Amino acid sequence: MLSATEALSRLKEGNRRYVSGVREPAANQAQRDALATSQEPFAIILGCSDSRVPAEMVFNSGLGDLFVIRVAGNVVAPSQVGSVEFAAARFGTRLVVVLGHSNCGAIDATLEELQRPSEAQSRNLRSIVDRIRPAVVALLATDLRHDHEALVRHAVRANVMLAVDHLRHGSDILEQLIQKDGLQVVGAEYSIETGKVEFFD
Ligand SMILES: [Zn+2]
Repeated sequence: MLSATEALSRLKEGNRRYVSGVREPAANQAQRDALATSQEPFAIILGCSDSRVPAEMVFNSGLGDLFVIRVAGNVVAPSQVGSVEFAAARFGTRLVVVLGHSNCGAIDATLEELQRPSEAQSRNLRSIVDRIRPAVVALLATDLRHDHEALVRHAVRANVMLAVDHLRHGSDILEQLIQKDGLQVVGAEYSIETGKVEFFD
């Protein structure tokens, strides 16, 4: 299994290929056969469901490379934590990336809800907004509230870092793996405009 550092380099390299227009060849039968009974994904990606941010494509990765969890707003609820725990413990994957992105509709919806609360929102959608709210509420008390674009940019990052923090400290299993086995959880942002992924830290 790749170390977290090696996995990070591989993701960065894959994103460079994606930006330059290289396409991963389609999977063939030999690959499917090799992966039929086992897998060793080298990274776990928690990303947004947005149709413009498919993790496998933006990291130019192939069958069996990435363990991907997608949910609107890349929020961390118990089932996401459980999915990360499962992959890290079962497959030995050592890198977790929380992947936010520019122009995220879930972030927009949360900011809108905070600025103009409505009763119409469904309880289920509200459960996503409620997970994003703690990341962005403080930003609305700053001058950023007068500049919507800057506000969304900061909110995307704050939401990623909240999810990173939650994964680092909200699970005994992950905390153990971080302390003893070199697991790393990092934040990143995908630019819908350029195709580039910028890793934080
Ligand atoms: Zn999104």
